[in-house]
Amino acid sequence: MTTVAAYAAPAAKAPLERTTIERREVGEFDVLIDIKFAGICHSDIHQAREGWGEAIFPMVPGHEIAGVVSEVGPGVTRFAVGDRVGVGCMVDSCRECENCLKGLEQFCLKGMVGTYNAVGKDGKPTYGGYSEKIVVDENYVVRIPDGLSLDVAAPLLCAGITTYSPLKHWNAGPGKKVAVVGLGGLGHMAVKIAHAMGAEVTVLSQSLRKKDDGLKLGADHYYATGDPKTFEQLAGTFDLIVSTVSAPMDFGALLSLLKVDGALVNVGAPEEPIALNLFSVIGGRKTLAGSMIGGIAETQEMLDFCAAHGLGAEIELIGAGEINEAYERVLASDVRYRFVIDTTTI
Ligand code: NAP
Ligand code: ZN
Ligand code: ZN
Repeated sequence: MTTVAAYAAPAAKAPLERTTIERREVGEFDVLIDIKFAGICHSDIHQAREGWGEAIFPMVPGHEIAGVVSEVGPGVTRFAVGDRVGVGCMVDSCRECENCLKGLEQFCLKGMVGTYNAVGKDGKPTYGGYSEKIVVDENYVVRIPDGLSLDVAAPLLCAGITTYSPLKHWNAGPGKKVAVVGLGGLGHMAVKIAHAMGAEVTVLSQSLRKKDDGLKLGADHYYATGDPKTFEQLAGTFDLIVSTVSAPMDFGALLSLLKVDGALVNVGAPEEPIALNLFSVIGGRKTLAGSMIGGIAETQEMLDFCAAHGLGAEIELIGAGEINEAYERVLASDVRYRFVIDTTTI
């Protein structure tokens, strides 16, 4: 076991504070990663505050991890010391079920092992990226291409893959009108990626406050959902809408913006349920779907895509002492567009 410094929430809703945790010895197929940067995902906040239900404490959040390999186990074949690597939302899965075999490890029938707030195969709680080092089986580690610097690559490990996967699955591309709801961490990556895929991109944000940014990120159009005229003007417009909103919102209103056969794909994970009048899907043969992160191979594909198109996240780099303040700013939709912790400050 190795003792490493970390930032942890000692209990639900308690502020995060500096502490130490134990990392397992590097096993046969493990890599030891010196973490350099960790993104702050809204999911970290939902979990640290038990917004999704009972959680495991102390909790070291962080599933947008970028770092450098500093040791490898004797059976490791894919990585060597010095490699630039990333770890996302999962660190293990059963590897044998139908979904794991298809590269959909995030939907493992026995349950994926989350990077934190989960129990590993050794029966011990997992701890995430707000820490100095992490030990991960090489099969759940991806390579960060040379063209991407580690700080702007870190958020791709969750925000990037969570938006790339549905955009690809629902065929965002030339000739397709795609709307992105919510311009936060996930939303801003959705705009960049959909634009790079060749789609015509519209941002639907609560207000026009971030319009200039949205257009610079690659959006062709930008509307405020707070303005009822938006819903009249855009009725029946989109082939695909990706909602990244972290709070309950009116999905009936969003569905009214789809063309016949259009799809509304939700990736946001609000803490409260929503009510929906099902007439909003039967008229127009519409699809209401969801999507959760992506498999390991698809995460590598996304990183390669982002490197090829020069896409990193727009980040505000912070020291570990600023994590609690950053959480409050994320909750106030005041992030442009991802907080990333310089983990060398822990
Ligand atoms: P974020 O940076 O806080 O972005 C969420 C955005 O939603 C905000 O910037 C805001 O955009 C909009 N928003 C917030 N409250 C709203 C409200 N009451 N009504 C309407 N719009 C609102 O969060 P994130 O890290 O991108 O994560 C977004 C959600 O996705 C979270 O719930 C997170 O847990 C979930 N998530 C899911 C997956 C998955 O695999 N499915 C993966 C990662 C995260 P505007 O200011 O532009 O309106
Ligand atoms: Zn996340
Ligand atoms: Zn499985």
